[in-house]
Amino acid sequence: MPKTTEQTLRRALEANGQRFTEQRAAVFRFLASTDVHPTAEQVFSTVREELPGISLATVYKSLETLVGCGLALKLTFGDDSARYDGRTEPHHHARCVSCGAVQDVMDDIEPPEVEGLGQTVDGFQITGYRLELSGYCPQCARGRKAAVGPR
Ligand SMILES: [Zn+2]
Ligand SMILES: [Zn+2]
Repeated sequence: MPKTTEQTLRRALEANGQRFTEQRAAVFRFLASTDVHPTAEQVFSTVREELPGISLATVYKSLETLVGCGLALKLTFGDDSARYDGRTEPHHHARCVSCGAVQDVMDDIEPPEVEGLGQTVDGFQITGYRLELSGYCPQCARGRKAAVGPR
């Protein structure tokens, strides 16, 4: 991995009292290289190609450590298993209701209602919000059109 990425990882781990390990580095590297928002199982199947000895339990623990150090985000969707995101700056997600794919929403969507909320709502101090859009990913949208067929 590029030296700066490794330094970022080392520094963040050490700042949180965690050791730098090859397993954590491999998990971090994969998360930083993909935007598919993989599940722990998907991380496992990729990382084990590089580190055949790694276990799913170690991948889980590594993911949780990265999340705890602010190096990754854990996304949970009510009905689904958790997904992990190497992109930690605030951004929104769109989830496909057909295949479950999760993708980043690059457009700067700021619903006016949320912007107008101000600092405290019903006594609750607001520090941020997440928007989850749902619909059909490009692939599934194409499939739906094909299923409808030409008129
Ligand atoms: Zn889809
Ligand atoms: Zn994301």
